[in-house]
Amino acid sequence: MPLKNQAQLTGILYLENNLTTAAFTSDRLEVLNLLSSQIAIFIENSILYNQLEQKVAERTDELEQEVVVRKRAEESAKVANQAKSTFLANMSHELRTPLNAILGYTQILKRDHTLMAQLNKPIDTIHRSGEHLLMMINDILDLSKIEANKMQLSLSEFHLPTFLTTLVEMSQIRAQLKGISVVYQAPPDLQSTVVGDEIHLRQIVLNLLSNAIKFTQQGQVVFKVEILEIDKQNLKIRFQVEDSGMGIVSERLEEIFWPFHQVGDQRVQAQGTGLGLAISQKLAHLMGSELQAQSTVGQGSTFWFELDLVIIATNLEPVKTETRQIIGFRGRKNQIFIIDDNLDNREVLKDMLLPLGFEISEAINGQDALEKLSEFQPDLILLDLLMPKSDGFDFLRQLQQMPIWKDVRVIAVSGDSFKKTQEEILAAGCHDFLSKPVHLETLLDCLQRHLKLEWIYEDKSDTQAFILPPPEKLAVLRELAEMSNITDIQDYLHEMEALDHQFIPFISKVEAFTKQYQFESLVAWIDSQTSAG
Ligand code: ADP
Repeated sequence: MPLKNQAQLTGILYLENNLTTAAFTSDRLEVLNLLSSQIAIFIENSILYNQLEQKVAERTDELEQEVVVRKRAEESAKVANQAKSTFLANMSHELRTPLNAILGYTQILKRDHTLMAQLNKPIDTIHRSGEHLLMMINDILDLSKIEANKMQLSLSEFHLPTFLTTLVEMSQIRAQLKGISVVYQAPPDLQSTVVGDEIHLRQIVLNLLSNAIKFTQQGQVVFKVEILEIDKQNLKIRFQVEDSGMGIVSERLEEIFWPFHQVGDQRVQAQGTGLGLAISQKLAHLMGSELQAQSTVGQGSTFWFELDLVIIATNLEPVKTETRQIIGFRGRKNQIFIIDDNLDNREVLKDMLLPLGFEISEAINGQDALEKLSEFQPDLILLDLLMPKSDGFDFLRQLQQMPIWKDVRVIAVSGDSFKKTQEEILAAGCHDFLSKPVHLETLLDCLQRHLKLEWIYEDKSDTQAFILPPPEKLAVLRELAEMSNITDIQDYLHEMEALDHQFIPFISKVEAFTKQYQFESLVAWIDSQTSAG
């Protein structure tokens, strides 16, 4: 008997009975006939179900394979990302090392009052170009830190109006060179000391201001600060930078926030990397904000963002920091041990520290340093981390095995600015961390903290801030000055310095005269000092 469903043959029902005759009566056949289409449907369903199960099994297989492939891809992406981070850390180190020497010496030269006036400008230009290069290296590192989720907010207290006017003044210098003005509009009641991420906020605002100046040929840049909401503890504020520059076509407005994307004039683009806005936007996100832009080609652009800050005080003037130049320190001489394989880096540190009266010793790697330790008896060690043969970490490991050196302070000086390494360095036993290029003030600040130094400052009022050598020595010096004998004066000064480093401020004064061959003035000055004494 055929089993049919909608005229479609699905199977045949075969029944056999050889025990009795007439087993299949027409009534029974009729019932079977009625059931036949139901049976056909069941058969079809079970075939379908079978096929479905097979399909599910196949798809599960496929999915499992896809997961394996994706896992593999994720793994290689992770490895690639790791390689990128390592590459960036290395590159940053490699680039910072020569920059350390360049910026180190420009800082030293900028402090030298006796330098010929016509050298000031080229030195400033070298310094600025070095700083620019450093900024670009930092941009690339910042972006990779953000991408690796390693960027963290660092909150501090700062006086908002002072912070903002400093940014305006910094931008005005650049704007003036182009003949455009920076107009600052802020409410008069903006008088708060707040808690926020000052460093990153500065980075965002400066980037907006510098873009506005860069892409504007005439007219003005308006920096507008508006208070949106304020109560005793909280401040919602809007920062806006508006320019009258070239503008951006609306279809590409979104694109300018992507890394390495630049639009518009090629010549102007060459001055940047296309990273500034991408970084600023990511920093704004970290602070819970969003950078927005509006622009009309040929008329100008406006960028803005809103920020919540916590107020900790109002109407507070910031503490004025000491701006006088440090020329030495009181008390006994301190021995600083510089461990760095790079000669230029050692020289820069040496030239920064020798004039202030520190004693300096050097080593070119960890092993060399260990051999020289007892000879030099350092009070503090400035330790480079990446060195051939035996690096900074090797040195630290061995130093910790030697209890007699447990009191010596070790400051890592490294070109690597990834936070993880800083933590590793501190965990490895360093007491502090300085990043290359070394900033003179940061270095001195660090030495002051670790060696408990009491600085001697340059005296701007030109009254006595130095210790005069004994009268007999002054008399010799006066005589040499009268003879205009520069070589003997220099030798004599070196002797004096070796005798007692407290005379260093005095020696610098004398050198200011001799370097410009002003021997008569020197004699007059020595006379004025002795009569004053
Ligand atoms: P960079 O300034 O280093 O090129 P940014 O990320 O800061 O990188 O800016 C990306 C691009 O956005 C710029 O190259 C420029 O094309 C455009 N742009 C940014 N700010 C302005 C502005 N104020 N006016 C016109 N174009 C701008």
